Amino acid sequence: MKIKFWGVRGSIPTPQTSAQIKQKIQKIIKNITDKKLTGMHEINTYLDSLPAVEAGTIGGNTSCIEIRADNQLIIFDMGSGLKNLGNYIAKHDQKSEGLDIHIFLSHTHWDHIIGFPFFGPAFFPNNTIHFYSGHPNLKERLEIQQDFRFFPVALHHMGAKKEFTQLKHNSSISIGNVKISNFPLYHPGGSFGFRIDYDKKSFVYATDSEYKDLSSNNITKHIEFFHNADLLVFDAQYTFEEAIHKEDWGHSSALVGIDFSIQANVKRLALFHHEPERDDFEIDTILRKSIDYRNINYPDNNFEIFLATEGLEIIL
Ligand SMILES: [Zn+2]
Ligand SMILES: [Zn+2]
Repeated sequence: MKIKFWGVRGSIPTPQTSAQIKQKIQKIIKNITDKKLTGMHEINTYLDSLPAVEAGTIGGNTSCIEIRADNQLIIFDMGSGLKNLGNYIAKHDQKSEGLDIHIFLSHTHWDHIIGFPFFGPAFFPNNTIHFYSGHPNLKERLEIQQDFRFFPVALHHMGAKKEFTQLKHNSSISIGNVKISNFPLYHPGGSFGFRIDYDKKSFVYATDSEYKDLSSNNITKHIEFFHNADLLVFDAQYTFEEAIHKEDWGHSSALVGIDFSIQANVKRLALFHHEPERDDFEIDTILRKSIDYRNINYPDNNFEIFLATEGLEIIL
């Protein structure tokens, strides 16, 4: 199974500012000078060694993840990252007989649907878009987003065939040999996590979720859903302190994700839905503090914790 992140930011698309880009350039120039790097080969090797936080960006687009498994094309959420994914699909996958594209929606807050009106493959009449949602009336919700008062192209003017499936809560469906289960999450208006099981690997996507009900019954249900995941993508929008302060805002922190990961025996934890008020360096600080928390509280378990960044690909 191949997973690619096309949008990782929470709440609203967040382009980098000129001041933030300049800060990165200054830092890189200082390091190149300190290390006395001179030739272009040396400098390029150094630049290639830097993480996205320093020599690129964590990413400003909102939630969108591409999954390829069993020759199926599956997408989790249609945040602004969906536009670039659509361009990629139109260039590399589009064929005359059409495509089947399976899109699962955690929920319909703007940051998870705003990319769809710009999704190129939805304009090809031979394509079929299969939508899956735990919420009712998904078609109506998308029609409202593209009402002429808010957007010039109506949903029905996007030529692809559209099929809508309302998922039974806590159920599973299969697309080819790929099993996809859903799980309700606590969030204003409700959100759903998804778990993919395919070829003895598992991937859990659990964003836009707050964990305020810490009763053992509720915790157990989550642990069962996350259990043995090879990769868990987790809502880490807030610091632990913010999560307490912003009760009922519907988001979580990396530290909660680490506690769940330990109890559920998760192999890799990707911090996701990054707070739009934070710049890349501040988000990177959350990662470093998270790793410290794991090292102090769970010294015998060094499972991987990393930032979901735009463009990152993972093979499971
Ligand atoms: Zn969101
Ligand atoms: Zn939301």
